[in-house]
Amino acid sequence: MNLNRKPIPVPEAVDRAVAEVTPLKSEAVSYRETYGRILAEDLKATMPVPHFDKSAMDGFAIRSKDSIGASGDDRIEFTVAEEVPAGSTSDYILKENEAFRIMTGAPVPASADAVVMFEQAKMNDEAFTIRKAFDPGENIAIEGEECQQGEVIVPRGTFINPGTVATLATFGYKNVEVYRQPVVGILATGSELIEIDQPLSPGKIRNSNGPMIMSQLKRMNITGKMYALEADDFDTLLERVEDMLDEVDAIITTGGVSVGDYDFLPKLYESLGAEELFNKVGMRPGSVTTVSMLGGVPLFGLSGNPSACYTGFELFARPSLLKMMGHDKIYAPVVDGVLDGDFKKANPFTRFVRAEIDYRAGGIYAKPAGFNKSNAVTSIARSNGIIVLPGGSRGYQKGDPIKVMMTDMTTGARQFNL
Ligand code: AMP
Ligand code: MG
Repeated sequence: MNLNRKPIPVPEAVDRAVAEVTPLKSEAVSYRETYGRILAEDLKATMPVPHFDKSAMDGFAIRSKDSIGASGDDRIEFTVAEEVPAGSTSDYILKENEAFRIMTGAPVPASADAVVMFEQAKMNDEAFTIRKAFDPGENIAIEGEECQQGEVIVPRGTFINPGTVATLATFGYKNVEVYRQPVVGILATGSELIEIDQPLSPGKIRNSNGPMIMSQLKRMNITGKMYALEADDFDTLLERVEDMLDEVDAIITTGGVSVGDYDFLPKLYESLGAEELFNKVGMRPGSVTTVSMLGGVPLFGLSGNPSACYTGFELFARPSLLKMMGHDKIYAPVVDGVLDGDFKKANPFTRFVRAEIDYRAGGIYAKPAGFNKSNAVTSIARSNGIIVLPGGSRGYQKGDPIKVMMTDMTTGARQFNL
């Protein structure tokens, strides 16, 4: 058992966990299925938008030259020659002081070059008058004003959001290349673990890390592959991990990476010939987090302690998996915030504290989410962010400026703050 593990700083550990992995291949997917995936090709405009000059308003399309000289005292009258609803066109050639009645989104016929809004016209039956001159192009969305054909609208590596899906539809991308999602195997290890429907007995605890990691993956749009619980037995663990290696792109284990008598995972990875990227990090919780690489497959050895497991996943597995997914922005945002409670305990290592984030008065306030030792599980449930407290000789007080790592973008503010 290696008791002389040397801790490396968190940023270096993150770098190591990310550096070794590479994006997976791409696959063509229907545009309807792309939300949450990562673009593997540049999304280019296949046509100008709009692709025809269209009316920006409901009103009348006129020849602007017929409006010259109009004023409140000297109104100019037009007669309606034809109607152009959205979805229709007209080849009619306007004569002097004639107009089309036209609706928003309809193509402006070639013989017209300005649109009078209904609100700018005084109407009576088939005619209307105006009190001002109109410039050519007024109230018209000009062909190509939003983008030109061939322009890169969204580059590869971008997370596909609802707007990206709308853009795919606009440009007729029925299928688009996106990166393949990694198959991530989850293995919870520990002879004390039982499944949720087994009876509790002294010494046994329910496996909470497995389903937690499954959900952390789901938050990233990855469907995890859960393997059966494994006891702390070197040979069966080895067999199981070998099987997993045939089936997955990444492995996340929990438990068994510490220095206890039955913590077999570091030794197991070593026996498989894996390259150990690090086995100790200058952080609390989760200092024993171990990450190795074997044939392009990252092996994330997370601590069994729930808070350590959760934090280790967010810090190391998440960016690494996002890189495999082809994402060009793989790190959780870290923002400036205010500590909204005391955290008295000093620590030589960087401390990550599960926190309740509140957005108010334009600021981000982060409160430690209750009992926060590495073995805590309930504080994770109350958290939507992680407070980052640099190591040092003192604790922290309410009101101190701090950094907050945003882990859960789906939670909002209690108040509407505009
Ligand atoms: P270990 O990392 O194996 O030393 O485990 C550290 C602590 O986490 C021990 O108290 C374990 O019982 C607990 N633990 C390990 N695995 C899990 C799990 N899957 N779910 C909840 N707690 C766990
Ligand atoms: Mg254990």
